[in-house]
Amino acid sequence: MEFFDIATKLNQIKKALPPQVTLVAVSKTKSEAAILEAYNAGQRVFGENKIQEMAQKHTALPKDIQWHMIGHLQRNKVKYMAHFVDLIHGVDSLQTLIEINRQAEKHHRVINCLLQAHIAQEETKFGLSLDEIEQLLNSAEIKTLKNILVVGFMGMASFTDDLKQIETEFKSLSTFFNKLKSQNKALKILSMGMSGDYQLAIKCGSNMVRVGSAIFGERHYI
Ligand SMILES: *Cc1c(COP(=O)(O)O)cnc(C)c1O
Repeated sequence: MEFFDIATKLNQIKKALPPQVTLVAVSKTKSEAAILEAYNAGQRVFGENKIQEMAQKHTALPKDIQWHMIGHLQRNKVKYMAHFVDLIHGVDSLQTLIEINRQAEKHHRVINCLLQAHIAQEETKFGLSLDEIEQLLNSAEIKTLKNILVVGFMGMASFTDDLKQIETEFKSLSTFFNKLKSQNKALKILSMGMSGDYQLAIKCGSNMVRVGSAIFGERHYI
């Protein structure tokens, strides 16, 4: 097994973060032992991108972990996380909000959600345009959903080495977030930035970063 000191990496990253920034340790594909290493170093917020993997880890690991769903959602699987999920980052349709609301109601909870904005150039990334987000937030339908609360936005920049391009994309979402925040008091979280670009994202106004490989090492898919 390779040696990769999770606690050291985690502490280096945490030490350099401004106080308003929440670190989500992205533990997808990583073992429970690796997650416990980060947990024992003080980390409590973890992000996963597959609902069933997250549910298994939630069952096995300490109950004061806050689990964030950061992946694209399959609506038929929302029920497996509705009793415990702390924040859902990747919501990009009214239909998904309706299903989260339906499942949250069964557990007498309000589930906090982020709307995913499409800010990258690639076609492959999920998400809503900024116009679509504004329409959704102002829609009559969303006001009827009492068991979800939209608390902010999530965005992923283009997969490119062009830092100017990434900065432009982050800034577009940050400007939009600040505009809508002044009209909607529930909007508090701007989730932008991964291992390769979280420092730039913070400079552009992010207050939640989703960092995986810089903490846990490279992922090995099977
Ligand atoms: C995997 C993933 C991350 C973390 O990526 P790293 O480059 O390993 O930090 C962040 N956000 C989302 C949505 C992801 O799927």
